[in-house]
Amino acid sequence: MSLAGAGVSPGAGHGPAYILTASVPEPPEDSAHTGDADAEKERALAALHQVAGELESRADRLEADPDAPGREGADILRAQALMAADPGLAVGVEALVDEGVAAPRAIFSAFAKYRAALAGAGGYLGERVADLDDVRDRAIALLTGHPLPGLPSEPAPPAEPGGAPRPYVLIARDLAPADTALLSRAVVAAFVTEKGGPTSHTAILARAMGVPAVVGCAGATAIPPGTTVLVDGTSGEVRPDPTGEELARVAGAARARRAAVERAGEAGRTRDGHPVPLLANIGGPGDLDAALHHGAEGVGLYRTEFLFLGRRQAPPAEEQERAYRAALAAFPGRTVVARTLDAGADKPLAFLPPPAEEPNPALGERGLRLLRRFGDVLDVQLGALARAAASETAELQVMAPMVATAEEAAWFAEACRARGLPRAGVMIEVPAAALRAASLAAEVDFLSIGTNDLAQYAFAADRELGTLGDLQDPWQPALLDLVHLTAAGASGAGRPCGVCGEAAADPALACVLVGLGVTSLSMGAAALPAVRAGLGEHTLDQCRRAAEAARAAMTPAQARTAARAELPALTALGL
Ligand code: PEP
Ligand code: MG
Repeated sequence: MSLAGAGVSPGAGHGPAYILTASVPEPPEDSAHTGDADAEKERALAALHQVAGELESRADRLEADPDAPGREGADILRAQALMAADPGLAVGVEALVDEGVAAPRAIFSAFAKYRAALAGAGGYLGERVADLDDVRDRAIALLTGHPLPGLPSEPAPPAEPGGAPRPYVLIARDLAPADTALLSRAVVAAFVTEKGGPTSHTAILARAMGVPAVVGCAGATAIPPGTTVLVDGTSGEVRPDPTGEELARVAGAARARRAAVERAGEAGRTRDGHPVPLLANIGGPGDLDAALHHGAEGVGLYRTEFLFLGRRQAPPAEEQERAYRAALAAFPGRTVVARTLDAGADKPLAFLPPPAEEPNPALGERGLRLLRRFGDVLDVQLGALARAAASETAELQVMAPMVATAEEAAWFAEACRARGLPRAGVMIEVPAAALRAASLAAEVDFLSIGTNDLAQYAFAADRELGTLGDLQDPWQPALLDLVHLTAAGASGAGRPCGVCGEAAADPALACVLVGLGVTSLSMGAAALPAVRAGLGEHTLDQCRRAAEAARAAMTPAQARTAARAELPALTALGL
């Protein structure tokens, strides 16, 4: 019997079920060691040391893997390794063992202090509690012989002697980004979670990895471990014990898909030759290899704030210049779109405080609003961008986030011109800007739609809240209306209009966006081959019909089904 959830990352995958088990049990409060305190301390510190080493080496592997979803995963793992190696923690553990406490309990109690401090801080730091618990549980599991919490690091052994290792179908109640960041396509064939929505971290990372995923699938964790499971990330069907015939059908579709996606070197275009540049979203120079590997035609969104996060002050101009130049040098003669610092809301920076306490920071001073207040920070960034561009052949375009009015667009274009930057644009993330797209477009050289924030602001649904997943679904017909309006406004003003939000990474939605009049698509690099293949199999007219069908629907699910009916090659390709 099949289970049903929401398909959030297309394609089909199958493999033995790997059920992510509950966390390691808390060591009993009164557990004492047998008397040799030095040996017990050594045992405890060795476990922490081993955990730190394993996390570091996983981070190394992740950074060396061009298929891995960006640098963020490796950064999270290194931060966890630092927690395990913290000298203050070791001192705390040793003191507890000296008092007679057994090593596992000493580790549990020593972590408790840090845990309370983080939980008390709330916000971004508060969310790191789960990472800390993971480190703690790994060390305790090593000491107690309890199976390690978390994830497979290798695929399952072959089903028969001489066969190939089999990637797992990973099933969990929910997955933290630190979990999913560890995984590669060699280890995971598909994700299934009982919780989560279309914009959950599982969904975003699965799409970035190009792995099928189904979320919101009730009852999935009751599937017995090791059962073969077939996951359809397009329809949302999860099928334990599939028949040989079903597996053969999936294998046929996968072969067709591979053949299509292998055309990685080709430029993005529809079947009838309408060009649609396919660009990569990057967070820093560390993402460039993956962008090139997957055939990006340039960079459509350089999220420069990753250079600034976690700093006490803005990075020096020379450091910025190096990071920008690296992206331009990777794409000689192509386009690189850098977004100026998008701080505020969920990405606060200590050195750019809002003027007053903000009860709703997503509606406060964020993006361009903050940069107008801190003009010197913008000026240093624009200067570094201009100097980087001066020595490279790539065309640098610079755009501002969180722009609401034509006046703001004009202000930003002027700031860019004053710095000698010839091509300035704005992101369309606020419904007011979409409604007046033509007048914003008249002030700048291009528009780029950020569908993640446009959904958040159009539906008044905080993108950080998993409970509002339905409202953030990029297939919402009202969001498609706003995209259409923006593309029409840009076209009327004779300006190009790209999309650089998560929506562009879905092969079906990518066709719909093109049908709505979008002129380029930018996405996490791993999604590029499938989007290129899907687009290359349909004409511009089919894309337009799919867009009309989606806009005529009432719900996101109906929009998706209606659009896909106009895009038949997607199913044939298993996309
Ligand atoms: C968006 O909002 O769609 C976008 C691309 O920007 P970010 O996700 O970085 O806010
Ligand atoms: Mg945004």
